[in-house]
Parts: sequence; C-alpha cells; structure tokens
Amino acid sequence: MTSSGDFPQADRLTQIDHAHLWHPFTQMQEWVGEPPLVIAEGDGVMVRDTEGRWYLDAVSSLWVNVHGHRKREIDEAIIAQLGKIAHSTLLGCASPPAILLAERLVALAPPGLTKVFYSDDGSTAVEVALKMALQYWQQVTPARPKKTKVLAFSLAYHGDTVGAVSVGGIDVFHARFGPYLFPTHKAKPPYCYRCHLGLAFPSCETACAREIEATLDAHHDEIAALIVEPSVYAAAGMITAPPGYLRRLRELCTRHDVLLIADEVATGFGRTGAMFACEREGVTPDLMTVAKGLTGGYLPLAATLTTQAVYDAFLGEYADFRTFFHGHSYTGNALACAAALANLDVFVHERVIEGLAAKIAHLQKALAPLADHPKVGDVRQCGLMVGIELVQDRATKARFPVADRIGWKISREARSLGLLTRPLGDVLVLVPPLASTNHDLSAMATILHRAIETVLDR
Ligand code: PMP
Repeated sequence: MTSSGDFPQADRLTQIDHAHLWHPFTQMQEWVGEPPLVIAEGDGVMVRDTEGRWYLDAVSSLWVNVHGHRKREIDEAIIAQLGKIAHSTLLGCASPPAILLAERLVALAPPGLTKVFYSDDGSTAVEVALKMALQYWQQVTPARPKKTKVLAFSLAYHGDTVGAVSVGGIDVFHARFGPYLFPTHKAKPPYCYRCHLGLAFPSCETACAREIEATLDAHHDEIAALIVEPSVYAAAGMITAPPGYLRRLRELCTRHDVLLIADEVATGFGRTGAMFACEREGVTPDLMTVAKGLTGGYLPLAATLTTQAVYDAFLGEYADFRTFFHGHSYTGNALACAAALANLDVFVHERVIEGLAAKIAHLQKALAPLADHPKVGDVRQCGLMVGIELVQDRATKARFPVADRIGWKISREARSLGLLTRPLGDVLVLVPPLASTNHDLSAMATILHRAIETVLDR
C-alpha cells in the first residue's frame, strides 16, 4: 500500500470538492461541514482515499460493484472497445456489443423475457417499465384503456426520477414531491420484523398477500401493473420478503390481468445468491428492470426486459404511432455494453453463482454474534444483502430518536476502522462485492460489530 505522497494535490482535491460538488442525499449541515472522503483508487474489494487510507468497500460502491475494482477482464474489454468506437446511437441503429448483450441477458433472464430495451440507470429502467405497462393496455387487443394505475408498495424505492418516485413510498425521500406524482394504489410490504398485522411468519401464512389480493379484486379494472422489489425491499432497510411471497404476487397478477414488474436493479446479478431474485421463486415477471451490477459496477447502463406479448402490442404501421417513444442519447452505450459482456463472462469463467452459497453461509455465521447485542433488533440477510436494524429497546422495538443519528455514527466509526458502509437510517448495511473472500466477509462483520460496541456501549 502506498502513501498519500502519490497524491500531491490531495488537499486541493478536498477543497475543490467542498466548493463545487453537490453530493447526492447529503445536504445536512453535519455532512456539509465535514471534509469529504475522496476516493482515488480501488483494488479488488478495497478502495483508497487521497490520504492513502484503504477501506473495505462493504457496500460495493452503492451496490454496483460485483467482481471487485479494477477487474482485469472488464478493464481490458473497455479498452478493446475504445479501440473500435466508444458510442454510436441505438436509435434506428445497433452495435455489436448491444446486440450480443441483449442475447446474453435473454439467455440468463427468467424464461419468456425475450426483448431488451436499454437505458442508463435504475431509475430510467423503471420509468421505461412503467411507461411500457401503461401504453401496453392502450394498444393491446382488445384495448383496456381504464387500466391507468400502478399498484406499488409503501416502503418501495425505485429511483429518483418522477415516475420512479411516484411508485416509491419512503416518506423521507418521496413525501416532498407528493402533489406532483401520478396517482397509485399503495400496498403494505411484508416487513416481518414489524408486521403491520401483528403476525409472525410462517404461522401467518403470508396474510399480507391477502391484502394485495383484496386490492386487486376491487381495482383490477384500473390497475395496469404491480411493481415490486423481489425478495428484498432494499432502500427501505434491506427488508426481506418471506419465501413464496413473490410467487403469490405472480399468481395474483396473472389471475387479475395485471402486469408484474420486477425491479431487479438492486437484487440482480447475484446479490441474493441467484443471478436474479425472480429465479429463487421460479417467477417470470412481465417486465424486469436491471442496472447496478449489469456492468460489474463500472459504467452506467440499464435494461428493461419484457415478453414477446408486450412487445407485440407496440408493433404497427408507420402511421399508427404505436411505437414506444422513449430513448436516451447514450442508450446501449458500446463501452458500457462491452463492460457488461465482460462482467457476464467473469460470472461464467469464475463460476461466481456456484460459489455464492458458501460465502452467504459464511457471512451469516460471521454476523451471528451481532444478534446478541442488546441494541440489535433484527439481522436480515438475503444472499449478500444484509440489514442490521438497531433499536433503542429490543422488547418494544422502539427506534432511536432521529437526532441521535445512530446509524450514521456507527458507520463513521466503521470508517475509522477501515470499512465503508452507508446506513439506511438506523439500519446498518452490508452489500459486499460478490468477489469478497470469506476472510473479507469476516473482517466486515468484525469491524461492524466493533463499531456498534464502540458507539453504543460507551
Ligand atoms: N430500483 C431499486 C430497487 C433500487 O435499489 C435503486 C437504487 N438504489 C433504483 C431502482 C434506482 O437506481 P439508480 O440509482 O441507478 O437510478
């Protein structure tokens, strides 16, 4: 490991950052007043700041990195593509990497998803899915023009563009825009630790799904689509859904003629232990969004996959204007598609999915001692996605006062111990790169445990 001597302009970088960078999600005075962490380099699961300090990237640079930083195969694929062309438009044209990637995605996706529409990030992939679903019902034969609403979950997060915000439900992110959003039906998600029905799984027999059934029974005539984060409501605090829940949603949507949109932006590409969370329940959604891990965490690229049946509703004569009028300038960017192809190659060559079960079990074991801490209410894990919910009182599950900033303080402490994580309120988060070794995973659990003790037991 080298020293900060490699970065003669380190101080200047910090000043520039302070003066001109508007950080996403960090407008609080407390954060603005601090010197920012400036990451200059990465290697495997580690990143290094401009002061020369190394950290475990325990949230995969916001859930995007897959095989580690500076993965040789992905670096080389991007360089090779640069030698050909960086970008050409996909509007009316195509490029070899975009064509090949679509083929690869279809081969990997749940059976029946055979069409790939590219966009740039998770939010836009969700916008595309919503617009496709809404337009589909206007154009299918026979048309169902009354189907104009989306059923979404009250703790969902699908991105920050206005359509994605409309189907989100996390008040702290979304409430401000309430009056400007399109109307939706909202359902309560299965948050088993704080079950709104006061029941316990499995004896509840997933009673919360019956509420969805009731909503669909009553309103299916006007509901175009149901959008769900399969297996894990990620941004709400890594809230895991009980087994069988997604399959039940699929059955209900099929029965009520409602399109199922699975937002795999966070869960896709191995995070839950399967390539896609939908696979865990043998579900094929009508539309599926992918982004974050698609390029291995290298470049922004997203895709919305759908079925031939949805695609067919958009085919028509020139003058019919049944086209899906949506396309971004950088859609299907060749460099990003080349990175994504190399990412998928690494999955195959290193048998990444096959190796996950052992890592997931190891992480679970490494996290077990945390559950004994009196302020740890719930340790939730789905694959390599972990949420540790801290509570002031375990018996009542009472939350800490917001002003205590417990999650933030523990994350800061973990940072001083060499681990980067970003809490979701008072839920501590671990989303390690899939490339993490058992040794890395143990280190992450140990540091987090020590940080919890340092902040909460002092
Ligand atoms: N959907 C889900 C489930 C997400 O977790 C996120 C981002 N955390 C998004 C969509 C939005 O993705 P992006 O940040 O790439 O726009």
